[in-house]
Amino acid sequence: MAVKKRAAKKAEKKKKYLDAYGTNLTKKAKDGNIDKLIGREQELDRMIQILNRRSKNNPCLIGEPGVGKTAIAEGLALEIANGTVPESLKDKRVISLDLTCMVAGTKYRGDFEERIKNIMNSVTTKPNKWQKNIGKGLKVNNMAKREDYISWDEYFMGIALLSARRSKDPSTQVGACIVNDERKIVAVGYNGMPTGCNDDEMPWERDGETTLDTKYPFVCHAELNAILNTRGKSMVGSKIYVGLFPCNECAKAIIQCGIKEVVYISDKYADTPGTRASKRMFDAAGIKYTQLKPKRQELTVDFREENV
Ligand SMILES: [Zn+2]
Repeated sequence: MAVKKRAAKKAEKKKKYLDAYGTNLTKKAKDGNIDKLIGREQELDRMIQILNRRSKNNPCLIGEPGVGKTAIAEGLALEIANGTVPESLKDKRVISLDLTCMVAGTKYRGDFEERIKNIMNSVTTKPNKWQKNIGKGLKVNNMAKREDYISWDEYFMGIALLSARRSKDPSTQVGACIVNDERKIVAVGYNGMPTGCNDDEMPWERDGETTLDTKYPFVCHAELNAILNTRGKSMVGSKIYVGLFPCNECAKAIIQCGIKEVVYISDKYADTPGTRASKRMFDAAGIKYTQLKPKRQELTVDFREENV
């Protein structure tokens, strides 16, 4: 009994700290005392996104007084009150701490720190139960991020296309980029002659008197080169980004090494037996193939010193 009582008392004391120095914005929002946020939706979305991260989930709003930092925190409270937040934020509360109040009456060195410590304790003993907002004092914001950054798909496909530029093949340049499920690049490759087969001595023709006078028996495709360039690293569950839909030989290699998805741009040989065989094998093996529909048509790489 005594233990229970003590625990209850302790909880009460903790609640007191938050009640004394903080305002429950979520409650305020529920009571209809917070107006709808206008004009800071983008920052609010970004904050919700950060709060949802598994780690580094402390958004920090920096800005001059009056730009609307508090409005964003209130906006979050309103979204929570309305239930229009991701599941993980649904039962959370936003507490605004009044730092002036916390400093008031602190006579001795350490008093303020003690109060902060108590507040932190009240927040952390209910793990994940609270979201805190230190209203004034911690000036926070400039959340405006670049909007024209490239997507992951554009990034990896961009690397595949850049790799293709290494190819000496006069008629077809293809690049491939293998990316694991942590979005880390495992390897890249482009179409070319095998190591040791001199580019100047090997045929690059598409047509010749005999097959041996053409490039086909010799050239190693981008996908196969990328796979071989992994040097034993696991490709299980990974994706391969490639400019051109893989041929049937590369399709076999893709399946056998555990790649689970092919992202491509062009399928210009869709009607050839090779590509049809690739699709048949991918379908049977459960390999997803997706044509990339990038938002942008092109991306420039600029080597000029002044622009780096
Ligand atoms: Zn191929």
